[in-house]
Amino acid sequence: MRNKILGFAALAVASVMAAAGTGAEAQEPPTLTQKTGGKAVGAEVVHPAAWNVERESYTYDATYGYTLWYPDTKAAHDHGGQPALRVALAYGLNPEDIEAEIDEVQADYPDVSPERETVDVARRHEGVAVGTIPGSTPYTAVYVPVNGRAYKINVYADDPARRGLDARGRDLLSDVRFEQPSRSVGSLGLPEANSPEALYPLGAEARAVERQEEEKVPMEPTVAVSEEWPSSTSARVVAKGGGEERIAEGCWEANPWFFVQTQHGSKANGNGNDGIPTGWSKIGLPNFWGQYTHGGLGYGRCTEPYNTNDKFAVDYPLNRGNYVFSPFKCGTVTYAGRNKTHADYGIFVSIKACNGKYVNLSAHLNALRSGLSKGDKVTNETVIGYAGDTGGGSIAVGRVHLHTAFYRYPKTNPDGSPYGGAGLRVTRNHYVGTAARRKGIKVNSHVYKYDKISPKDAFCREDVRCGERYLVSN
Ligand SMILES: [Zn+2]
Repeated sequence: MRNKILGFAALAVASVMAAAGTGAEAQEPPTLTQKTGGKAVGAEVVHPAAWNVERESYTYDATYGYTLWYPDTKAAHDHGGQPALRVALAYGLNPEDIEAEIDEVQADYPDVSPERETVDVARRHEGVAVGTIPGSTPYTAVYVPVNGRAYKINVYADDPARRGLDARGRDLLSDVRFEQPSRSVGSLGLPEANSPEALYPLGAEARAVERQEEEKVPMEPTVAVSEEWPSSTSARVVAKGGGEERIAEGCWEANPWFFVQTQHGSKANGNGNDGIPTGWSKIGLPNFWGQYTHGGLGYGRCTEPYNTNDKFAVDYPLNRGNYVFSPFKCGTVTYAGRNKTHADYGIFVSIKACNGKYVNLSAHLNALRSGLSKGDKVTNETVIGYAGDTGGGSIAVGRVHLHTAFYRYPKTNPDGSPYGGAGLRVTRNHYVGTAARRKGIKVNSHVYKYDKISPKDAFCREDVRCGERYLVSN
C-alpha cells in the first residue's frame, strides 16, 4: 500500500512537470529538455523545453532545417527574441565541396576575416567552424559531413564583440544527434525563402492592397533629383557631404538637410480602435531612440563591426499591409528578402542613398512590393513593401510595426544586407501632410524635428500613456 501511494505521487509529479514543459510559464525550464528533430533534416537537438522551435516553411539557399530561439522574454518581445541555433541539411552541398565553400565564406568577408577551426559535433563527427559571420544576428557557421550528407549549423552569438564559438555554442553542437532522414526535402513541397511566392503578396486580400491607389505626393518635382533640401535654387545651399557630425559612442547625426521622409502613407493605420487616426503613426511605440530593445537590451549599438548598429532605430506602429515607402528621395535597393544573418528582422529591405553614404533598413515586413529586387532604383514615391510582423521565427515581434534604422557607411554581406559602419541618428523627417490636412491641421514646415522629443517623453507602449503630440502624419 505504501509503495503504491509513493508510485502514484511520483507519477503526479512527473505529469505536473510535463505540463509545465508545454506551457509558457515553465517553473524550472533548465531542468526540462526536449528533443527537436525533423524527418527531412535527419538531425535532432536536445534543448531546454522553454526554447522556441521554428520549423521552416521554406527552403533557404539549398538548405532546409529548423531554428531554436531562446525563450520569449518580455524584454526582447518587440524584436522577436534571439536565435540560438539553426540546424540544416545542406542538400545542395557535396561533403567534398565543404572546404571550397569555407574558402569562399572567408573570401567574402575581408574586413572581419572569419576564422576557421575544427570542432566536434554530436561527440563523434568532425566539423569545421567558420565565423563570426556578421549581421543583426551574427553566427558561426559549422559545416559537418555525415554519412555522405552535408550539414550547415549556424551557432548564433550572444556577445556582439564575439569572434567564433563560445562554450555554450560548443555545448549545443555536442547535443546534436544525426540520423538517416526518413523523407526527402523535395517531398515537403516547400517554396524557396526568397522566391516570389514567399516574398510577394499572394491571395485576394493582398491583391486588393496592391490595387489601392496611394497618395504620397512628392515634396517637390523629382525631375532633377536633389537629396539635400531646400532645392539648389534656395539660398540655403549646403555643400554636399557637409552638415553631419559625430556624436556620442561613435554614432553619427545625419546632415539635417539630407532628405528623409516618414515611410507610411495617407491610408496607414486605418483599422481604428488603436487610438491612431488614419494616415498617422506614433513614435516610441514600441521603440524610440535607445529605448527597450533599441537601447540596453542588445540593439543599442553605434559601432559594432559584426552587428547592425540600431541605437537610433525607430519603430512605427502600422496595420498589417500598410504601405511602406522608401525613406530616401534617391536610392538603390541593396537587399530585399529574408536571410539568416538578419533572422530577427524577418522580411526586410535595405536601400543605399544616392549620396553613397547613408543606408536604410526597413524590417518586419509582411511582404515586399511585387517584383522589388536588389539593384532597383527608388524615389520617395516608391512603395517598397507592406507592414507586418515577420522575424523571430515562432516568437511574435509584438504588434505590427515598421522597424526603420539608418547607418553611415555600413559594410554589406555578399547578399547586400548591411552590418557595421556607424549608427545614424536622423533628426528631421519630411512628411506630406495629407493626413494632417484631413484633420484640419495647418501644415507649415513639412518636417518633424525628432531631436525636440526626449527619449523620456517618448515612452509610449501599450502599458504607458502616450501623448498625442508624438503622432506623426504621413
Ligand atoms: Zn525596432
